[in-house]
Amino acid sequence: MLVVMRQGATEEEIRGVVRAIEARGFKAHPIPGAQRTAIGITGNRGAVDRPAFESLPGVFEVIPVTHAYKLVSREVKPEDTVVRVGDVLVGGREFVIAAGPCAVESLEQTLTVARGVKAAGARLLRGGAFKPRTSPYAFQGLGEEGLRILAAAREETGLPVVTEALDTDGVDLVERYADCIQVGARNMQNFSLLRRCGRASKPVLLKRGLAATLEEFLMSAEYVLAEGNYQVILCERGVRTFSDFSRNTLDLAVVPAVKVLSHLPILVDPSHGTGRRDKVAPMSRGAAAVGADGIIVEVHHDPDAALSDGPQSITPDAFAALVGELRQIAPVLGRSL
Ligand code: PEP
Ligand code: MN
Repeated sequence: MLVVMRQGATEEEIRGVVRAIEARGFKAHPIPGAQRTAIGITGNRGAVDRPAFESLPGVFEVIPVTHAYKLVSREVKPEDTVVRVGDVLVGGREFVIAAGPCAVESLEQTLTVARGVKAAGARLLRGGAFKPRTSPYAFQGLGEEGLRILAAAREETGLPVVTEALDTDGVDLVERYADCIQVGARNMQNFSLLRRCGRASKPVLLKRGLAATLEEFLMSAEYVLAEGNYQVILCERGVRTFSDFSRNTLDLAVVPAVKVLSHLPILVDPSHGTGRRDKVAPMSRGAAAVGADGIIVEVHHDPDAALSDGPQSITPDAFAALVGELRQIAPVLGRSL
């Protein structure tokens, strides 16, 4: 249920509605909009007493939210959400590029890649300190030492850092060192992790699960918002299909679908989405064309020696060429880069 306030409703009237919601044991989520404030209600099991809310001062209307997800829905918030990662705004006019290695391997490797992507025009630095690997014998990441390296790379380049937390303890650490907490595809339905991210002080980059429908994807984001963290960026990173010419099938069609149903920004990950280096640039161009808010790309200065995801990593030079192409495409779509 959504309580829509009149244009010009006072702070006191908004507080009155919040108190009325909380008095019934529900949770109130005030969502300021360009025209007026709406207040989402969650935590109710059955129907909400609509007339009681409709008669409160300052209330314009009370409308049921038709989708199972509420707070992530455009019904609840018609305006696009802009998420702030460090000093970078995701979901605004800028087409934002996040780039960096799949995994933090060493200080030298991370600084080399970070300098390269920064020079080419990346706005955010990505890199995993905790890696979700298919094999328990594969490189698992440097852990907290990796987070320290990322923080050092931010110190030098000024790029805010996005990095994955694999579990709730990991969020404590990532929150301390990084600017944005990544929830990986394999963890998209790790509900305790999502709830913990919902109580985090940093924005969340939520990757779509390998076999997740759009509704499941949005429901996972709902877990984070329901706990009070409204700073969520979605990320399409490919899903499993029978198609065998790429590692995953990058579902670019989900981008315009998300834009209709949700106000949250969405990035595209052409690296995991294809698994092949030669497909990263074409799918990045496609991502810009379909209206993504940016991309997140794996870059390594020596991809064949990378400890993870070398086959899909591009060099800093190839990345610079890609950014050059995107700089030509972005203005056509009304975006800056
Ligand atoms: C990653 O970003 O390196 C990663 C492991 O991504 P995903 O969770 O999408 O596989
Ligand atoms: Mn990777």
